[in-house]
Amino acid sequence: MSPIVRITPHTVELGSGLKVHRALPSRHQRMVGAWCFLDHAGPVDFPPGQGMHVGAHPHIGLQTFTWLIEGDIVHRDSLGNEQVIRPGQVNLMTAGHGIAHTEDSIADGQRLHAAQLWIALPPDQQDRAPAFEHHAEMPRWDEGDARLTLLAGTHAGRTAPTTVHSPLLGLDLASDKGATLDIALNPAFEHGLMPLTGHADIEGETFQADEFAYMAPGRDTLRLRLGAGARVLLLGGEPFARPVLMWWNFVGFSKEAIAQAQAQWQSGDARFGVVDGGRAPRLAAPPMPSLRD
Ligand code: MN
Repeated sequence: MSPIVRITPHTVELGSGLKVHRALPSRHQRMVGAWCFLDHAGPVDFPPGQGMHVGAHPHIGLQTFTWLIEGDIVHRDSLGNEQVIRPGQVNLMTAGHGIAHTEDSIADGQRLHAAQLWIALPPDQQDRAPAFEHHAEMPRWDEGDARLTLLAGTHAGRTAPTTVHSPLLGLDLASDKGATLDIALNPAFEHGLMPLTGHADIEGETFQADEFAYMAPGRDTLRLRLGAGARVLLLGGEPFARPVLMWWNFVGFSKEAIAQAQAQWQSGDARFGVVDGGRAPRLAAPPMPSLRD
């Protein structure tokens, strides 16, 4: 069996004092299945008068998957959706051909803790119509002293309600006093595991919060020990068939497609629509690096 690869996420400052640990993509591992982006935000206590306010920005070719652990955020998008997300809930936005959205803390001066993930859409879904779904209740159950929440895919006879377009697994595991579990895995999947708080041992190796463990396909079980107060995110998926290009908020299979999206966002093209009601200014797409082969 391949060894577990230990990857240290890099820290990115998103403004308003919000620092995130970005585990995907990394130099060592671009994706886990179709999961192509993982930011761990917080836990952070915003000072009075401050919160997270992300102005209107576009996406193509991906799904944004917000897993909220603490705090309250309102999502608004160019399809006209306005949706509050609270702890234990998921917002899943499918960009397809193009969408724009904003995200705002509801009350400033509060705590925020979330995982923001992206899922690359496969070639036959890249250009699909945009969509948005909110899930107030996710499948939750206990195994011994661990609390499990299924975020995506199928596990232990349960199926998550989130609509995904590739074989994927997303699982949140938490324990107050610590727990040991044997987790059945799909051996066709590669997996990534990251403690969001506390620490976890995988087959005797300890991973602290914001250390990412990558496991190649071929495992059918994982012996996991959660430390007291630990919360861990486990991602899995069939290795993605085609390499994707990621630039700014765009995912695609050609530089031309991404350059076109960049130019259309900058020119205010109707492709992305308009978001009403966000608190921060519309974001500008940075200039594309020159297109070289
Ligand atoms: Mn976004």
